[in-house]
Amino acid sequence: MTQRLYYHDSFLYDFEAEVWEIAESPKPALVLDKTAFYPSSGGQIHDTGVISAGNESLNVIEVADAEDGRVVHYLEAPPKQIKPGTTIRGRIDPARRRDHMQQHTGQHVLSAAFIRLFNMPTVSFHMGDDYCSIDLETPVLTREQVEQSERLANEIILENRPVQIRFVTRDEAAKLGLRKIPPAERDQLRLIDIQEFDLNACGGTHVNQTGQIGCILLRKTEKVRPGWRVEFVAGQRGIATARRDFTTLTEAGATFSAHIYDVPQQISKSLEEIRNLRKQREQSLEELAEAQAAALLVETSRVDGRKVVTRAFSARELNFIKLLAQKLTRLDSNVIALLGSTSPQPSLVFAQSAGLTSDMGSLLKQTVSTFGGRGGGSKDMAQGGIQSAERIEEALKYASTSLRG
Ligand SMILES: [Zn+2]
Repeated sequence: MTQRLYYHDSFLYDFEAEVWEIAESPKPALVLDKTAFYPSSGGQIHDTGVISAGNESLNVIEVADAEDGRVVHYLEAPPKQIKPGTTIRGRIDPARRRDHMQQHTGQHVLSAAFIRLFNMPTVSFHMGDDYCSIDLETPVLTREQVEQSERLANEIILENRPVQIRFVTRDEAAKLGLRKIPPAERDQLRLIDIQEFDLNACGGTHVNQTGQIGCILLRKTEKVRPGWRVEFVAGQRGIATARRDFTTLTEAGATFSAHIYDVPQQISKSLEEIRNLRKQREQSLEELAEAQAAALLVETSRVDGRKVVTRAFSARELNFIKLLAQKLTRLDSNVIALLGSTSPQPSLVFAQSAGLTSDMGSLLKQTVSTFGGRGGGSKDMAQGGIQSAERIEEALKYASTSLRG
């Protein structure tokens, strides 16, 4: 078994060790007699760093626990000079380790806060590159509970309580009233003791004083099985996240020429304005269609008792053309409307007053098949489009001629 130096000192970033074994496949890797590199486990992600000897320096890109208790250091490239028996120097990335210790110890404090205040146990912990999360076993989680737990966790950080590592036997752990005693593997348990606040068996890396966590910021909460997931960031991540939030809000505020705290109110106000304008626009279009339909009917002379209104527009949406066709065929009980628009889409709308005997659906189908397009509809109302805007006039003329024939 590899001796784990981080068990006793989480701030040991530089160490010497002897190479036990070198593996080449599937990935180049080293096993040492002892290591300060933390392997991914218990929700905490692995360290990275450098292993060197003589002129050779190898990047450690991943660290994992093997089943037999050895720690495997995966390397970017296979070693050339380093052999079994070589004494190496290992250096872990201190910024990455510090970040992991802040997140991980932050999780201990936060989980204990949820237990102390609301008796909500943490059932799992996840550490990602951007944020961390815990899953709480609870059917309900309110915003107040989240805020209270955040406040208590940050008070414990401000009190700068000692975080101590203790090794005890399983019996001693049971006597200490440990909530979760891990399944039997070793007789000795490693306990992390946050003075008079939390006691847990854990193999991860932790800060020495709660003050080193810096801060805890709770973020999104979401319902998951079997309870609630709470996202959080601690330490420098907390500051980086707050900075990003502030930048985003500042940009939004500048768009509205408003203070950042007034952004939600400004958004509601703008949405309300958009809704009102949309309503006004619909009403105006309705009125415009009504007036235009009346004017078109006056202009069009009646032939054999029937008025055929043929008209092409530019820059009218299909919906407006349809509305106009409806108005035309309702204002007069003996009207056929053959309408088109060249843009934004070259479109056609054919309609007739209810009770007339032509078939607009088949007339439209016939027209679009002649001019290259698609469309269809019912006996009284049909719509479609053709590819070429320049041929709209021609298509309308064709439809009007077909109607007479
Ligand atoms: Zn831990």
